[in-house]
Amino acid sequence: MIGHHWMRGDLDLDRKPAKPVTRAMLRRVGRYFRPYWKQTAVVVLTLAVTAGLGVVPPFLAKAVIDQAIARGEGGLLNLLVIAMVVVPIAGGLIGVGTTYLNASIGQRVMFDLRNELYASLRRQGMRFFTHTKAGELVSRVNNDVSGIETVVTGTIAGLVQNTFVVSWTLGMMFSLDWKLTALSLAILPLFVYPTRRVGRIRRDLARRRQQRVARMSSLVEETLGVSGALLVKTFGRDRYEIDRFSDENRQLMGIQIRESMVGRWFFMIIQVFWSAAPALVWFYGGHRAISDAASEASNAFTVGSVVAFTALQTRMFMPVNQLLTVHVDVQAALALFERIFEYLDLVPDVRERPGAIPLARAEGRVAFDRVSFAYREDSPVLHGVSFEVPPGRMTALVGPSGGGKSTIAALVSRLYDPDSGAVTLDRRDLRDLTLESVASAVGVVSQDPFLFHASIRDNLLYARPGASDADVVAAARAAQIHEFVAGLPDGYETLVGERGYRLSGGEKQRVAIARAILKDPRVLVLDEATSALDSRAERLIQRALAELLRGRTAIVIAHRLSTVLAAGEILVVDGGRIVERGPHEKLLARGELYSRLYREQFSAAGRLADAPS
Ligand code: ADP
Repeated sequence: MIGHHWMRGDLDLDRKPAKPVTRAMLRRVGRYFRPYWKQTAVVVLTLAVTAGLGVVPPFLAKAVIDQAIARGEGGLLNLLVIAMVVVPIAGGLIGVGTTYLNASIGQRVMFDLRNELYASLRRQGMRFFTHTKAGELVSRVNNDVSGIETVVTGTIAGLVQNTFVVSWTLGMMFSLDWKLTALSLAILPLFVYPTRRVGRIRRDLARRRQQRVARMSSLVEETLGVSGALLVKTFGRDRYEIDRFSDENRQLMGIQIRESMVGRWFFMIIQVFWSAAPALVWFYGGHRAISDAASEASNAFTVGSVVAFTALQTRMFMPVNQLLTVHVDVQAALALFERIFEYLDLVPDVRERPGAIPLARAEGRVAFDRVSFAYREDSPVLHGVSFEVPPGRMTALVGPSGGGKSTIAALVSRLYDPDSGAVTLDRRDLRDLTLESVASAVGVVSQDPFLFHASIRDNLLYARPGASDADVVAAARAAQIHEFVAGLPDGYETLVGERGYRLSGGEKQRVAIARAILKDPRVLVLDEATSALDSRAERLIQRALAELLRGRTAIVIAHRLSTVLAAGEILVVDGGRIVERGPHEKLLARGELYSRLYREQFSAAGRLADAPS
């Protein structure tokens, strides 16, 4: 079966430490924002305005105390109070707009990235899919890309906003009293190191949590998917899987508890500092206000200034803390982009060369010319395989398991490229043809065909989306499945169930054959099912296959006597080489591997029943 042997690609749990931020990397990230630069500019502007509006209320309070109340101006007081209501309303409204713009930029960037990522993964060759865990791909397409949205609306917007808030606030504090401001700032460096450290530990835990979550989702996917569920059930491993899940789950819980506790003490101290800081201002400012009032100096530090100053200082708490750790967030965000770029940059091993030729209607001559191939560098699987199948003829591949039959089949539909030699269609190297023309010329029916969880009609139409109802029914008839489908309560609209589990093996195969008939390829690669069906089902399949093979070039991994008897040539594949070739009678007469296989596989296994009597 094609793609049956796969290596387990483990989730990369120990990711490399964050790479240093490069200019090229930033530029590349920036490219995703370029289409939305107008919205981005507006967001920056509104963030500046809201940050500016934030410093207004402390000054209104100052004016209320120092001017309106001190001088007994009721009218001014009314105006100031109205302003105290209007300013936050304005800030709030602008904030709503900013959030909308921000979210829409984030979502658009995410939309673009997700599409690009999926398209890039789609282009990959089979080698990639057999080596990568599906759960990991799902996690990249879903989680990593969603992370980007948080980066845009959280990290980047937060960075800009905090910078504005801190600059505005500091500016205003300086304008009130530069000495006091300098004093407040002098204490900041004490917090820099611990804040950063805590931030880093947090990040680390967050990363570990994400990895755990990814592991858990891949576990869920594997063990709760239909095939996995079947395996677990039939091996009676429910208990084991429950324990395994519980283990992962416990680890996740531990990490999350640590995550919520890390730096809690430290943050408590910072919080106390910030809450207590106004006391210092009141002490210093209060005394100055007293002495200034006595001396009646022109630039007196008034009660209003103390109030305004403490209010400003309190506003700095969150933004300063966030700015102290922002580089950790930025690094994490870039790591996220990096992971996505890694996948975007994957070069498919099978790809269309520039100027590839489209083949309008293939004649169907398939040839292997000294083809050698290895899945992994050190272990060659095919050694100089050569053969030719003339248009419309059938060649059967037989041989012991692991000999290389499926690999030959996979090379015909260009799932892989040979390491040396060439696979040709109508005497043209497959690598010189467009991927599309190869795909439309070569059809594959595997032992265990895949059906999408959709209606039978949709599964059939997958082969030829524009096909008419009459074509669909004709194909189903040819594949001996029409009567069965028509007899179902929902007919062609019947859902086949996850991977087609609601159909019997024989029915599923016939649906797959109907699908191939509808596709109508010139060349057919067929992996005959090994599992024996009851004779009626077997007869239906045989008839369906006869319809499918009629007039097409076929390369069949044969398990039935009827097939080898019908083949123009039989290739006996062993150890990656064609060790014998010819028609049945001749090979049988030689008394070598084929005759042995014949005795073991075709006759002894009771397959003689298939042979026309
Ligand atoms: P057959 O179809 O005759 O049973 P295959 O072509 O499936 O043989 O396999 C030939 C050899 O290639 C085997 O040794 C098998 O283990 C190896 N092989 C098949 N598929 C892969 C793969 N995706 N990655 C690595 N090795 C593979």
